[in-house]
Amino acid sequence: MGKTNMRPAYNDSLNGLPKSNLLKNILTEYILQSSCRQFAGVDRFALVYLDIENFKYLNQTYGYKVCDEIINCVENYLVRNVKNSSCVARITSDKFAILFTDIKANSGWYETIDEIINNGFNINTFNHVFYITMSAGIALYPEHGRDIDSLMKKAETANYSAKKTGKNINIYSDELQQDIIEQVQMVNKLQNGIEKEEFTLYYQPMFKLNSNEIIGVEALVRWPQPMNEFISPEIFIPIAEKSKQIYELERWIINKALQQKEQWEKDGQDYIELSINLSSKTLESESNFQKIEKIISSYKVNYSKIIIEITETVIISNIDLAIERLNRLRSYGIKIALDDFGTGYSSLTHILKLPIDIIKIDRSFIKSIPNGNEEMVITQNMISLAHDLNYKVVAEGIETQEQLEYLKKISCEFGQGYLLCKPLPSDRLHEVLI
Ligand code: C2E
Ligand code: CA
Ligand code: CA
Repeated sequence: MGKTNMRPAYNDSLNGLPKSNLLKNILTEYILQSSCRQFAGVDRFALVYLDIENFKYLNQTYGYKVCDEIINCVENYLVRNVKNSSCVARITSDKFAILFTDIKANSGWYETIDEIINNGFNINTFNHVFYITMSAGIALYPEHGRDIDSLMKKAETANYSAKKTGKNINIYSDELQQDIIEQVQMVNKLQNGIEKEEFTLYYQPMFKLNSNEIIGVEALVRWPQPMNEFISPEIFIPIAEKSKQIYELERWIINKALQQKEQWEKDGQDYIELSINLSSKTLESESNFQKIEKIISSYKVNYSKIIIEITETVIISNIDLAIERLNRLRSYGIKIALDDFGTGYSSLTHILKLPIDIIKIDRSFIKSIPNGNEEMVITQNMISLAHDLNYKVVAEGIETQEQLEYLKKISCEFGQGYLLCKPLPSDRLHEVLI
């Protein structure tokens, strides 16, 4: 590194870590040096952008004091594990950068990152063990950029895409940029779809497992495309949540679902419980939540047969607000279900505070039956605990007879899944309803 003031990682004390301004200086100098040496055909380097997965939730659950300490420990961990000829710097909050100056094939730089990212590590602080996982995006000099800003942006883009695809670690490529462009196009397509009401609702029956009786249905939004295809809600709902289009889309969904419920009641099928998914974004926004309340109150339906499904994200972001909003829904007689249970971060003490009637065990646990011993023990414990606490329990994603038999054996009363019935358009539901 010649005469730069960059500190080798192994030499850094915790407080001596370069902050982002200093990193910029180091990078500038390094780029200058490298571009000089480039004429001689040497020197490439890698800029790695890392952040802590789900840090927002850690912050909201454990508070700033604990999380500041977690960040310090992570800094320490990175410095300890990143070898010579590299520099670790903190950018902001939970975001770090590592500059690897020696990226020759046998220098082990990629293996170092791979080790950090793909293994996770424990941080022991405040009498608590936190299991930390990180994601990383990598930009290479000079092919991905010749100045600091574009290298940083590209490393960040690669990190963003690593998270989105669940790969955890990603090297920048032009295709990633393309993904982001596609996302922007998706927002425009969504807007058009909402305006033209291109969406439709499917309904997936929920069963009482020991009698095989249908007790209700869950409304699931579908976005039909030409050639009989659908864009999955798993793709467009998160985009709509980010772009705030979810509010308008969700008003359409709730209107449609309640119109359907009204129709079923007119047809004498009052017994069908209707579950509607509500985005945590809608629950968090007072003005949009009020609009939903207004829609709900405008229908003459048996509210005690309506269930609103929420996920843990909302609880973590603001539990008091969640309690208040859920109680407002409950004042109509509406029931509340906690969706995707078991996948989130919230502690049981948090969940116990919530006005919840039903717990839906996430399908990842059901998938583990019969081979995932650990998950099966957790599933069984979750079910018996939920029963002790007087929650109704619904198992999601039952796909095999074996899973169904096991769930019945461990006294899971209710369930839903392709084995029992796939989501159906409303005009085909009569085939399964009596
Ligand atoms: P979710 O609320 O957990 O919905 C259950 C998802 O599991 C549905 O996927 C359903 O089709 C699928 N599923 C049902 N049985 C099985 C099974 O046996 N195996 C497998 N592998 N999957 C099964 P879908 O409809 O693609 O919805 C995905 C997610 O999108 C939903 O997960 C929910 O989070 C969101 N979503 C769907 N519709 C709405 C909606 O109207 N509003 C909001 N806010 N979110 C929605
Ligand atoms: Ca759901
Ligand atoms: Ca679910």
